[in-house]
Order: sequence, then C-alpha cells, then structure tokens
Amino acid sequence: MFKKVLIANRGEIACRVIWACRELGIKTVAVHSEADRDALHVRFADEAVCIGPPPSAQSYLNIPQIISAAEITNVDAIHPGYGFLSENPHFAEVCRECNITFIGPSPEVIRIMGDKSEAKRTMKAAGAPVTPGSEGLIEDEETAIKEAGRIGYPVLIKATAGGGGRGMRVAYNQDELLNAYNTARAEAEAAFKNSGVYLEKYIANPRHIEIQVLGDNRGNVIHLGERECSIQRRHQKLIEESPSPAVSYELRQEMGRVAVEACKRIGYSNAGTIEFLLDEDGSFYFMEMNTRIQVEHPVTEMVTIDDLVEAQIRIAAGEELNYTQDQLIFVGHAIECRVNAEDPDTFTPSPGRITTLNLPSGAGVRVDTAIYDGYFVPPYYDSLIAKVVVHSRSRERAIARMRRALESMVVEGVKTTIPLHLKILNDPDFIAGNFSTRFMDRFLK
Ligand code: ADP
Ligand code: ADP
Ligand code: MG
Repeated sequence: MFKKVLIANRGEIACRVIWACRELGIKTVAVHSEADRDALHVRFADEAVCIGPPPSAQSYLNIPQIISAAEITNVDAIHPGYGFLSENPHFAEVCRECNITFIGPSPEVIRIMGDKSEAKRTMKAAGAPVTPGSEGLIEDEETAIKEAGRIGYPVLIKATAGGGGRGMRVAYNQDELLNAYNTARAEAEAAFKNSGVYLEKYIANPRHIEIQVLGDNRGNVIHLGERECSIQRRHQKLIEESPSPAVSYELRQEMGRVAVEACKRIGYSNAGTIEFLLDEDGSFYFMEMNTRIQVEHPVTEMVTIDDLVEAQIRIAAGEELNYTQDQLIFVGHAIECRVNAEDPDTFTPSPGRITTLNLPSGAGVRVDTAIYDGYFVPPYYDSLIAKVVVHSRSRERAIARMRRALESMVVEGVKTTIPLHLKILNDPDFIAGNFSTRFMDRFLK
C-alpha cells in the first residue's frame, strides 16, 4: 500500500480523498493556491504545499508545480479528484515518467475517452449502443448539412473536447445548423483549444442514466448500478439519485452488462462512469465516459455500502477487487443535492464570507463539504460548497429526509441554491419520478 499520497485538487473532494487515505493509514499532502491558504483540505492534510496564485491555470492546473510538490514531499501516488487535471492524459503520463502512481486509469485510456468522438467510435466497436450521429468529426459546413440531413433534425453539435456541460448547441433546422456549427467550433477552440465538433441526434426527452464501474489491474470489472442525473440546468447536474425511478431490475442488468463488457474490451481499470441517454421508448445509448471519480459518487456509496475512493486507492496500489458482481448488494434509496454558492434565482455566483453555518445531521444524512463558520468562499473556482446526501429505505422516505436535512441547513453570508432544491423536492413530477433532462426548463418557466 502507498505510504503517502498527494491530492491534486481542492474543496470537498480533496477532503473526501484525505479521509479515505487516513482510514487506510496513508499520509497526505495537500496542494493549494494562494487563495486557499485557509482551506480545510490544507488543514486536514499532514503536509501542504502552496503551488501558485489563485487562478487555476497557475495553480491547480500547473503540472510542473504539482509534480515538484510531489517530488519534494516524496509521495508514492497522486489522486486527481474530479475536474482540474483528473482527465488530462498528459498529466497521467508525466506522473508515470516520474514514477508516481496516478490514481486512475492509464493515460492511453484517458486519452481515448477524453476525445468524445473517439470514445463513441471505440464504444461502438466494443459493442455498446451509441447515440445516433456522425461518424467522427465534422470538418466543413457541407458535411454538417449532409450529416444533419441523414441523422434528422433536431441535432446537437458537440465539442469533442467538451466537458462540464459546456460545448453543446442544438439546431432545429439547416439555418440554425450553419450558425450553430460555426459558433460551436469557435467556442470549442476558445474553451478547450480544440475546435473539433461532431453531430448527434438531439434526443427529445431522455433521462441521463450513468453506470458506475470499477475495474482492477487484473481484468476484473464490476458495475455498481446506476445513478439518475436528469435534474440538470444547462447540462449541469443539480440532483442525483440511485436507483433511478425509471430503471427496472432487467434494464439495470442490461446497462450494467454493456458497461462492463465495454470496459473489459478497452482494458479499463480504476473507477469510471459510463453515461447513457435513456430514451422514452426504453432504448439507451452511450454518451460519454468519465475516467475519474464523479461528483455524485456518494449516492452509489450509500446504496452499495462501499467506499469508491478507497477502492480507487486500493486498485491503483495493485490490489484485486475484493468482491464479485454477485456479492454486491443494493440497499434502499439515496439522493444528493449539490448546494452551490449562487443566487437561487439568477444562478450568479455568490462568493464571500460565511457568517453562520449549521450543517444538517441525523439518521441517514451525509454532508461532503469543505466550508466552515468564518470560511471565505473564493470567487476563482467552481461554486459547489456542499453535497447533501441522504439514504433511506424508499425513494419517498429519502425525499422526506432530504427536505428535513435542507430545512435545517443554515448558510449565511453567501447566497445558496438550497431554496431551489427545496422547491424541486416539492414538485409533483419530481416526487412521482416523472421527469427527463428537460425537467428544469419547464420548472424554471
Ligand atoms: P460529474 O459528472 O462528476 O458530475 P461534472 O460534469 O459536474 O461531472 O464535472 C465535474 C467538475 O469538473 C465540474 O467542476 C466541471 O466544471 C469540471 N469539468 C469537467 N470536465 C471539464 C472540462 N472538460 N473542462 C472544464 N471543466 C470540466
Ligand atoms: P459533458 O461532458 O459536458 O458532461 P455530455 O456529453 O455528458 O457532456 O452531455 C451533458 C448533458 O447534455 C447530458 O447529461 C444530457 O442532458 C445532454 N445531452 C448530451 N447529448 C445529448 C443528446 N444527444 N440528446 C439530448 N441531450 C443530450
Ligand atoms: Mg457528461
């Protein structure tokens, strides 16, 4: 097992990884920007290294600084968390060259899955159903028109390097297509330094259902069921749950089988998530794979009574998966609400000092957070400040528990999305489990 691990991240996920290391008896090194000197991950780690000024490009994305910190502190491994460098194949390669274990899959697999168009091609070849769309990238307007005609409108223009809900545009007809195609390319170039885009059929009322997988370095792969992530705003998830009210036992078996098969074919190891669109008629399509721990992993941990970060570390250290698919059990229902420091009506970020804080607690409640009373939420990073997760025996009970948890949560000094979550939790369609990724469009109207 590793003796010391560096966490190349910040916020709640950095704390989450530190806890897992501590339970495993592993020493931890935090890295932080100048804006994060007083951050909780810095306090809880055994050692901390400042890696640069506040902007992420100069700190949390600064590979030479992070590698230097790893070498100075003599760590065996680096956990990248989510976001930042977690899906950067070059970073995984540099770690490998420096003899530091990157806690995640191989750079080769990260590279393929990081290019969405390439990932689709690979998954299709591995036998997974993929969202209907263009074969590969669209290089000119003429091809865009031809392919969109073949696929049928509406179509979605997607940046092959996109992520975090960014880099997507819908077109309902040819006029919109040309405009969207050119804007999407320019935006992708500006945001991801890669102008590559491809076309996909825009599925009308799908659900976002993703399968959690775990693979070890010896070819064993299992899935840990699904997460329902259809409650999204601008393609970004707000609420996630497991199991999905739309997934039957048979569908779970089938989606799980497809996910595991595909992972075996591509030689996937460590934790990963295969995202699918589930159509109204029950068919499902591969959308993309995230080769990292996911924000919403706690809902899977609750229903499987597992620790996915511990599993990631054990796998990276060379251990074999310690249970098989048949030994896995699913218990009850879990829901996560992402609480952001944002205005709940306009969604503008609301950084600032937290003057009063009361976090929910009690039976079946888990809060993953890095905020505290007096903490200053910096303006430079993602606005997620806490993940409130509940577990109970049924979906109905879990919703009641989440309401009770959020009603007792007090955060003063910054605005938060708690009031929005409470409204969603009282919506009849949400309560009935009757929704698609379009839910928030209607809800916000
Ligand atoms: P999850 O599926 O784990 O919920 P998200 O799509 O919410 O993942 O992404 C997790 C974090 O990573 C967010 O902070 C998001 O902004 C960031 N992120 C993911 N991919 C990218 C990317 N390609 N470029 C910029 N940020 C990204
Ligand atoms: P990201 O890397 O930003 O997470 P995804 O490819 O996972 O991008 O897509 C994000 C969201 O956009 C999905 O969860 C879904 O709501 C929506 N989406 C993506 N592709 C399609 C599609 N072909 N049809 C309808 N909605 C889609
Ligand atoms: Mg996605």
